[in-house]
Amino acid sequence: MNIVVCIKQVPNTNEVKLDPVTGTLIRDGVPSIINPDDKAGLEAALRLKDAQGAHITVVSMGPPQADAALREALAMGADEAILVSDRAFGGADTWATSTTIAAAIKNLKYDLIITGRQAIDGDTAQVGPQISEHLGIPNISYAEDIQVEGDSVIVKRQYEDRYHIVKAKMPCLITALTELNKPRYMTPGGIFDAYREKEVKVWGLKDIQVDQANIGLKGSPTRVFQTFTKSLKAAGTVVQLDPEESADYMIEKLKEKFII
Ligand SMILES: Cc1cc2nc3c(=O)[nH]c(=O)nc-3n(C[C@H](O)[C@H](O)[C@H](O)COP(=O)(O)OP(=O)(O)OC[C@H]3O[C@@H](n4cnc5c(N)ncnc54)[C@H](O)[C@@H]3O)c2cc1C
Repeated sequence: MNIVVCIKQVPNTNEVKLDPVTGTLIRDGVPSIINPDDKAGLEAALRLKDAQGAHITVVSMGPPQADAALREALAMGADEAILVSDRAFGGADTWATSTTIAAAIKNLKYDLIITGRQAIDGDTAQVGPQISEHLGIPNISYAEDIQVEGDSVIVKRQYEDRYHIVKAKMPCLITALTELNKPRYMTPGGIFDAYREKEVKVWGLKDIQVDQANIGLKGSPTRVFQTFTKSLKAAGTVVQLDPEESADYMIEKLKEKFII
């Protein structure tokens, strides 16, 4: 079985703080990590490999520093790594990103493609389903459990208030949730191999078959017009009232704000 796992290198947004004076985001020194949903997707692929054998290729689109994320994936146990990187791919929105990644995947053998549900920086949750559309294969999103039986995948798919057990024939794309598992650590030997023995192949524009009208900033139907930090809320109001009056007061305030 051939599994392709899409991983995005993202800033660790748990560690991004606000500058109290300027109110802007402090990005300096914020470490880059493998997007958490993607790491869970990689772990799911590694467990399938442990159980029944699989060849795992990790793919990332990004600048040269995304190499570190791919080496981490190799050190965890992935077999092959592809960095899709070219100035022509820069400034891509989700359409251009998914078009480029799907074009790269067309060069690979795959039965199963795993992406994260959503990246913690862009936060759109669009890239995985769009890749499946480009490739014309089924997509099961929000996976909390993945089993493979013969030529099918059986996925526990999370909803707000229930689960669905969904079965699909491969090839198929699944978007993974962090709840899937607890990803393993890299092994020391794995780290040596990832840097000394294994290769991260870099594919540029010339290596994939893609319509240039659909890639990069120029091929992006959407533009980020402006980015700004959310303004801080004013300090709360403290009132001294007896319990019944307090309840009435709170209900009045919630009604004023159309919360209830
Ligand atoms: C310079 C710049 C300009 C941008 N301009 C725009 C813009 O004009 N309009 C706009 O809408 N967005 C813009 N973006 C954001 C960009 O669209 C997203 O970063 C990108 O499309 C991925 O979307 P997402 O982060 O929401 O991923 P999601 O859709 O939340 O990601 C879902 C899953 O898809 C996979 N995935 C996503 N991205 C990658 C990747 N690069 N490599 C491998 N796997 C991946 C991962 O498995 C991930 O978990 C810009 C980003 C940059 C850096």
